[in-house]
Amino acid sequence: MYLSLPLLKQIRRKFPQGKVRLMCRKGLGKMFLEHQIVDSVHEIEKGKSSSYKDTLEELRQIEFDWVFCPHRSYRTALFVWQLKKKVAVGYSLWWNAPFFQKRVLYNREIPDALRQLELFTCASEDFQKQWAQESNKQRFLGVSQTEVVSFEDNPLPEWMSAEVTSWKPLKKRICLAPGSVWPTKKWPSSRYAELAKRFLESDYEVCLVGSAADSRDCELVAQADDRIQNLCGKTSLLELMEIFQESQLLISNDSGAMHVAAATSLPTVSIFGPTVPEFGYRPWQNRVRIVQEILSCRPCSPHGTKSCPIGTHACMNNLSSEKVFQSAMQLIGIGSSKGKRS
Ligand code: SF4
Repeated sequence: MYLSLPLLKQIRRKFPQGKVRLMCRKGLGKMFLEHQIVDSVHEIEKGKSSSYKDTLEELRQIEFDWVFCPHRSYRTALFVWQLKKKVAVGYSLWWNAPFFQKRVLYNREIPDALRQLELFTCASEDFQKQWAQESNKQRFLGVSQTEVVSFEDNPLPEWMSAEVTSWKPLKKRICLAPGSVWPTKKWPSSRYAELAKRFLESDYEVCLVGSAADSRDCELVAQADDRIQNLCGKTSLLELMEIFQESQLLISNDSGAMHVAAATSLPTVSIFGPTVPEFGYRPWQNRVRIVQEILSCRPCSPHGTKSCPIGTHACMNNLSSEKVFQSAMQLIGIGSSKGKRS
């Protein structure tokens, strides 16, 4: 959902007097309202058909000028088709011509935030020109064949940015997000614990973050030292953003935390294992390092798996805490040299 921020910001910019309504999964909408990215939020409980039905009924009372649909499922297309609207924009798929008045190619070669933003080329000729001149899509993708990928040399222009609140790193604090829905996307908790100790020795506060589902991973790290603060499952998304806003850095697996961090421009080191940045889901901001092992088995799945298909999990097990620590320190240094630290 956070990768939709550049698209939503563009819609807000183009239609300043219009009412922007966001339909999203339950629990995600409040941040978008709070930061005035949208005017109303219609949350849906995943897997609960009555929730879809009630939301559809509510939204069918409204006449929309534009509906942008960055989803490719039949169910979402059908939902959009039932709304009262002048123009619906979606990705072009072989089956969905009857559902959308305007369609854009689903371009697998570009990052997801850009892919979503491209839907907006249907709504504005000016934006279409800007897109054609400046998007230069390949430069934002990243390169998999180096162990540490940096994006500082190819900064995102402001119109592509996902930032909704500025970064004010008042605390000497490092956040770690050791969880992930998929076990193969997790760097071992023992490595996160080693990393936490390195930062504590360097006089940083260390703070663990994540959703309630990440509790076990965070507990394992927290056991390494009493000084580690475990906030996992104890913060709302808005509170998490406030924590990120005041911190120096996030170190995270390829998981949702890095996308929340991008909304605050918190510098981020992301650890990639079975997935690669070319899939289009790197943190969508400029102060980013991706740390990864170069292995012939990578990538092995689009989203991660429950267990390693070849049984080694070398993509994560071979990655040392020293390498991640050094990347993190370099990134903090870069933040400092740009005058972003107080
Ligand atoms: S197959 Fe390779 S990339 Fe996939 S989980 Fe195993 S070690 Fe990692």
